[in-house]
Amino acid sequence: MSVCLFCKTEGIFRTREHIIPESLGNDIDILENVICEKCQNYFGTEIERPALEKTNLAFWRSYLGIRTKRNHLPFVNLDPPKRGAIPSFHPFTEFGVGFTAHEDGSTSMDVSNRWQKENLLRDKLRYILVFTPWHLSILGRFLGKVGLEFVALNDINFALSPEFDQIRNFVRFGLTKSLWPIYCGREGRTTDLKGPIMWDGVEGRQEIECYRYSLAKREKGGMVFAFSIGTDIMLLCLSSDLPDPDIEKCITGVKLSCLYYHDGTW
Ligand SMILES: [Zn+2]
Repeated sequence: MSVCLFCKTEGIFRTREHIIPESLGNDIDILENVICEKCQNYFGTEIERPALEKTNLAFWRSYLGIRTKRNHLPFVNLDPPKRGAIPSFHPFTEFGVGFTAHEDGSTSMDVSNRWQKENLLRDKLRYILVFTPWHLSILGRFLGKVGLEFVALNDINFALSPEFDQIRNFVRFGLTKSLWPIYCGREGRTTDLKGPIMWDGVEGRQEIECYRYSLAKREKGGMVFAFSIGTDIMLLCLSSDLPDPDIEKCITGVKLSCLYYHDGTW
């Protein structure tokens, strides 16, 4: 018998869980038989799909041309859901905007909303993706799930300990009053991520890096999980849902800002 990492149901599970979805290029980090079928299905449709199709991860999948598990180049439409318990709308939100990756390595932006088109032309094609509470909830739950699964990959008993009960319940069941703080930063330039690069005057092809992650124990206690894709760095403290200004300085050379909604502020 095992205990499910997320709902703590006891049973015999026959699941192969890709810690980071295959659509982000992962075929190495896999957890076997430690999460139940119900939780696996829930994460697939309710957390991973919206995270991969509607957040900054969707943009990066298209921009970097990361193929889906069926070997297709991605195209995404960023329209957030119109209904739901958590607000997903903002006046500058992304209705009518999508991205398509092409065989030649380019990415096109597909804009069907006239207001967005005018805005983009006026603002020299600078596009801002707004993180509404809904986006932060999906992204926080996605990153929390991935982080906790990496803890489990190293040590399943530690991952099942009470230290992670709060994040476990947040990723599996959601919270209604506040969101988990996400620390976001940026590293490098978008234009450096793909295309040819020069070494000693010789042009070389650049491998596309899909993502990076790291898991670390903080000196003052608690585990932090960092995930990078494209130029975005996102970090979560897996052991506490309270914002901590010290975490903003925990990656040398990168300025992190805490994105957070206090209890009942949306
Ligand atoms: Zn479960």
